[in-house]
Amino acid sequence: MKYELPKLPYDYDALEPYLDARTMELHHGKHHAGYVVKLNAALEKNEDIAKKPLEGLLADTTQIPEDIREAVRNNGGGHFNHSLFWETLSPEKEEPQDTFLEAVNKEFGDVASFQKQFTEAALGVFGSGWAWLIKTKNEKLEIVKTKNQDTPLNQGSLLLNLDVWEHAYYLKYQNRRPEYIEAWWSVVNWKKVAERFSRSLK
Ligand code: MN
Repeated sequence: MKYELPKLPYDYDALEPYLDARTMELHHGKHHAGYVVKLNAALEKNEDIAKKPLEGLLADTTQIPEDIREAVRNNGGGHFNHSLFWETLSPEKEEPQDTFLEAVNKEFGDVASFQKQFTEAALGVFGSGWAWLIKTKNEKLEIVKTKNQDTPLNQGSLLLNLDVWEHAYYLKYQNRRPEYIEAWWSVVNWKKVAERFSRSLK
């Protein structure tokens, strides 16, 4: 087994009432775990591809042989995206700070305007997918959307991602994606986002 399900840096109930314990347990312990199992199964079929870093494979899926390309793209993306997602959740209430805050203000005017635009993007994902905040190669903050488990790795540095698959919210919020997104803002780990932003400046 090459890839493993990462441990969460908090308990399943730590993000209550915003993200409920049962959803977190299923999302991490079943959905994410499932991507890891299927990713490993696909990579077992090709030793050379298995040796390559996942990030590089996802950034350019054309290098993956066709027989396992879809499996690696979907399940590798699922593993990668969720690993990032868990890291940018936290029970500690924080606000954007320092150089990251400056960059948000410069790009979007203020934090509220950024949040409004990001929320609109997340609501606009048709079906299953993700909303992202990235830092582009031109040093700009940008909000992008991806479908399924695709990752915008070739568009810039990944700072923040929001899972809008129904499995992320259906138990508690049913079809009310706007309520889920509003709740999610209360558990964003801004410290981690700022850390990723600083790292991307080097
Ligand atoms: Mn998910």
